Amino acid sequence: MAQEVDPVKTARLFEFYVRRIWPLQRRFAAGRLNRRCTQCGASEKMLPLDASGVCSACVEQRAKGLPPRRAPDAALQAELNAVLAAAQGSGRGRYDALVMFSGGKDSSYLVQRLKNEHPRLRLLTCTVDNSFMSPVAKRNIDEILPRLDVDHVFIRPHRGFYVQLFRHAITHLNAEGSYGTVDFSDGEFMLDAARNLAAEKAIPLIICGYSRYQVENGLGLHHYESPREQERRPRTETAGLRLQDIFPHEADRRLWWQGQTDPAVDVPRLLFPLYAWDLEEAEIKRQVVQWGLISAKDQSPIVTNHRLIPLLGVVDVHQFGYSSFENEFCRMIREGKAEREPWQHTFEFLEYTAKTGLFVKPLVLDLLQQLDLRAEDVGVRFA
Ligand SMILES: [Zn+2]
Repeated sequence: MAQEVDPVKTARLFEFYVRRIWPLQRRFAAGRLNRRCTQCGASEKMLPLDASGVCSACVEQRAKGLPPRRAPDAALQAELNAVLAAAQGSGRGRYDALVMFSGGKDSSYLVQRLKNEHPRLRLLTCTVDNSFMSPVAKRNIDEILPRLDVDHVFIRPHRGFYVQLFRHAITHLNAEGSYGTVDFSDGEFMLDAARNLAAEKAIPLIICGYSRYQVENGLGLHHYESPREQERRPRTETAGLRLQDIFPHEADRRLWWQGQTDPAVDVPRLLFPLYAWDLEEAEIKRQVVQWGLISAKDQSPIVTNHRLIPLLGVVDVHQFGYSSFENEFCRMIREGKAEREPWQHTFEFLEYTAKTGLFVKPLVLDLLQQLDLRAEDVGVRFA
């Protein structure tokens, strides 16, 4: 087997370069890069820019103003609270709730708050290991779990399953790029794996730490609970791709949620408490630091993310001109929730390095090899 390129070392090198070298070098590379919105950093390939270099989303926001901050919905929160309170001791097995745990701040916050507010809710936390987890994310999980002091399991499907999924997804990108195809199908499988585990262990609730934005925009739901009819439905496709086309073997397709057509049999309820709690990111961060779960030092999403991220970024740049992960950051910048300059430098440098191959090339080639793909299969050609 080929020597793996160290992904964490490459990520740190990338970050160092973005911080220290790119701010100087970018002036000389400008001619080779797409223009970006002066307000939010969006690439001209993402949104049209006007004559003064401002994108259409920023122009629209300037005209309409930022949407007013939503007032907390006390009725919705009380309703959720009642569901959680009633679930305590309700499981027929050893647990009442299966909580998705990634080791990040949102899921850490979720577990601790559930423990504080519903101490008799018997929790099993679970992490789905997609074979491409960052070693830094794994280390975080090992560090935080003892502090949360909860039962935990890893769900670890065989590697070949994920290789088939990611290989198919990255070669069949939908209009939302790798974010809406590879990352989205990964997230859907994560929930399906939890549905299966909860059903097997007779756990009545599945609790997931997606933010309100993720629930509304990622899942298209407008409530803290996924509708029961939807939870009963068997899975046949993910991110617009048919499972039949991705997995030739029935056994692999059956790792997805098979649904429940027998009305006499209940299915686990899927809840997103952060939808109802609707907290600012800063508040969650403050609280997890105060609870001693996570240190105040910011951890870069680049080192904690999915190991395929550099490959996804490079493939997106070659196919769309920018990375599909940029959309969300540009939105946060427009809403004043993230700083423009560091993110713009990150995206610019990604664009540059995706075109030149500068030090991400070995990593990208290695990741492609792990998926049994060649650069031309994903439309990548380094200059
Ligand atoms: Zn803009």
